[in-house]
Amino acid sequence: MKAWQSNIRKVDPYVPGEQPNLSNMIKLNTNENPYPPSSKVQNAIDEFKRDKLRLYPSADNRELVEVLADYYHRDSSEVFVGVGSDDVLSVAFLTFFNSGKPILFPDITYSFYDVWAELYRIPYIQPPLDDNFRIVKEDYYQDNGGVIIANPNAPTSLYEDVNVIEDIIEANSDVIVIIDEAYIDFGGTSVMELIDKYDNLVVVQTFSKSRSMAGLRIGYAIANSELIKAMNDVKYSINSYTMNQASLTYGVEAVKDEKYFRETLSKIIETRDKTKASLESMGFTVLDSKTNFLFVKHESIPAKILFDALRQEGIFVRHFNKPRIDNYLRITIGTDIEMEIFLRFLKVFIDKSSLTK
Ligand SMILES: *Cc1c(COP(=O)(O)O)cnc(C)c1O
Repeated sequence: MKAWQSNIRKVDPYVPGEQPNLSNMIKLNTNENPYPPSSKVQNAIDEFKRDKLRLYPSADNRELVEVLADYYHRDSSEVFVGVGSDDVLSVAFLTFFNSGKPILFPDITYSFYDVWAELYRIPYIQPPLDDNFRIVKEDYYQDNGGVIIANPNAPTSLYEDVNVIEDIIEANSDVIVIIDEAYIDFGGTSVMELIDKYDNLVVVQTFSKSRSMAGLRIGYAIANSELIKAMNDVKYSINSYTMNQASLTYGVEAVKDEKYFRETLSKIIETRDKTKASLESMGFTVLDSKTNFLFVKHESIPAKILFDALRQEGIFVRHFNKPRIDNYLRITIGTDIEMEIFLRFLKVFIDKSSLTK
């Protein structure tokens, strides 16, 4: 072995869901929004002048920070913007989790958290969710170096009440608590208001799911100005110009179209609840989702068999080969038509499987 080989920073990377590019595929595997962003975004794309690309974007992402600050009635010093919430969360880990004590997050949650902890050499403990995949809040009352919780959680789709989250924030006043609200717009209540009450709270959200903009990579954090300044200092120490000019311009337009945002959200919620009922009638257990996806398990057919059969058909869902959840599928909510095709195929497949038994 060469000497330098032992000095390479080795990490098992996060593995995103596949991005196949087949015509006719039904893509329900990465929790993207099935509807395009607002037509205001389309107008901004049509009007975007290439001459704008000569110049660096604003390093402080002023235009987008101000629009988000207005939208949430915060001061612009309380908003941090990054390249998707993955970037925002990564900067937050690097900024806040330096005590040497283990940080806490559930055994089943967004599988990027342990990757960042490994990358940044942050020790961590993963208290198990209970048998119903619920957070046991008392597990977060032990001595720790910080807490990160996704609410609603992924891939379970379950939402914890604001009171449960507040108890955890309150019990951890000596460390930073990050609440990852990637799916909050699909039916939960944000804890953003609590940043006035708790100076240790960082709330992270994204344009990728509810705002139909996964391809633009926009995420943000809301916290008190001292925490946001600390995050910006870290960001400027890695890359001053994280956000590109197109994302800044189009992101601003997306926030302005509240009506369209509410319309697509309610369509997705309606399709979700219909799909849940249909799946239940086919023998699936479906967790109570407050997200744009369903986490499901069939009473007799193993998840991997269903996953492979769907894939053969050009219908992509997500299966996690991990303890406790390897018999579940995570299914993103698509359009009504996509979900009808998906359900029709499943029904035929399940009927056939039970005949051959
Ligand atoms: C999708 C997701 C993210 C990251 O999304 P970005 O596209 O990077 O904004 C973060 N946390 C959770 C729980 C997610 O599901």
